Amino acid sequence: MFFSIGIKDIIDILLVAVLLYYSYRLMKESRSLNIFFGVLVFIVFWLFVSQILEMRLLGTLLDRVVSVGAIALLILFQEEIRKFFFTIGTHQRVRSAVRFFSGEEKQTHTREDIMPIVRACMAMSKQKIGALIVMQRSLPLNDFIRSGEVIDARISERLIENIFFKNSPLHDGGMIISHKRIAAAGCVLPVAHDTTIPKELGLRHRAAMGVSKETDALAIVVSEETGNISIAFRGAFQLRISAEDLERILTEDAF
Ligand code: ATP
Ligand code: MG
Repeated sequence: MFFSIGIKDIIDILLVAVLLYYSYRLMKESRSLNIFFGVLVFIVFWLFVSQILEMRLLGTLLDRVVSVGAIALLILFQEEIRKFFFTIGTHQRVRSAVRFFSGEEKQTHTREDIMPIVRACMAMSKQKIGALIVMQRSLPLNDFIRSGEVIDARISERLIENIFFKNSPLHDGGMIISHKRIAAAGCVLPVAHDTTIPKELGLRHRAAMGVSKETDALAIVVSEETGNISIAFRGAFQLRISAEDLERILTEDAF
C-alpha cells in the first residue's frame, strides 16, 4: 500500500493535537476532566471494535451511540463550548478586527467620567463600606442588568455611595456601569469557583472574578472587611490597589 505523509497531514495532526490540548486544559479548569477521559476511552474502544476488530454487531450499536453522542456532548459540555467560543470572540485581535469592520467605537473613558467612581471607592474604602462595581466594555451585560434593579442614572459619587450604604435596599449585589451611566444595582453576578482564589476573599471578590472571566468587563471591589480596593479583569486580580492605580487603570487605553 502506498503511504505518504505530506506537509498538509503534518499540519492536520498538529492542529488536532492543539485542539486536544486546549480541550484538555478547558476541561481541567472546569473540573470535567473525568468526563473528558471517559469520552476519550469510549472513542478509543469504539475505533478498536469497529475499525480494527471489525465486530459488526457491536460496531453498529456503538455507531448509533456515537451519532447521538455528538448531541449528548453538546449538552454535557455546554459551558465549556460557550467558554471556548467566548475566548475566541473576545481575543484582543478578533475584537479589533470586528471593530475595524463594523466601525464600532471603542468605549473610552475620560477623567471626568471615572473620577466620581474613583472618589466614591476611596470614600467607601475609608468607611469600610463593601462595594462591587462592574464596568461594561464591549460585551453587553444585559442579563446581569436584568437580575438587579435598573437605574439608568448619571454617574455621581454620592449616588454610588448611597447605593452601597449598609442599610440601602440596593447595597447587596453588584452595580453595573454601562455607556457612562449607572445601568443597574443589586445585580447577581456569576461566582467563580476557582480553588486558586485566596481563602480570605469571599463571595464579593468571587463574583467580581466570575464576571471578569465570563465577560470582558472590569470589576472593582471595595472590601467591607479591610477597606481594600481590588480589581478583577480578564480572570486576574489586582489586589489592594491605590486610588491612583484605580484612576490610571480606568483611564488607560488597555481598559
Ligand atoms: P468583603 O471583603 O467585603 O467581606 P468578601 O469577598 O469577603 O468581601 P462576602 O463577605 O462574602 O465577600 O460578601 C458578601 C457580599 O457580596 C454580599 O452581601 C453581596 O452584596 C455580595 N455578593 C455575594 N455574592 C454575589 C453575587 N453572586 N453577585 C453579586 N454580589 C454578590
Ligand atoms: Mg467577607
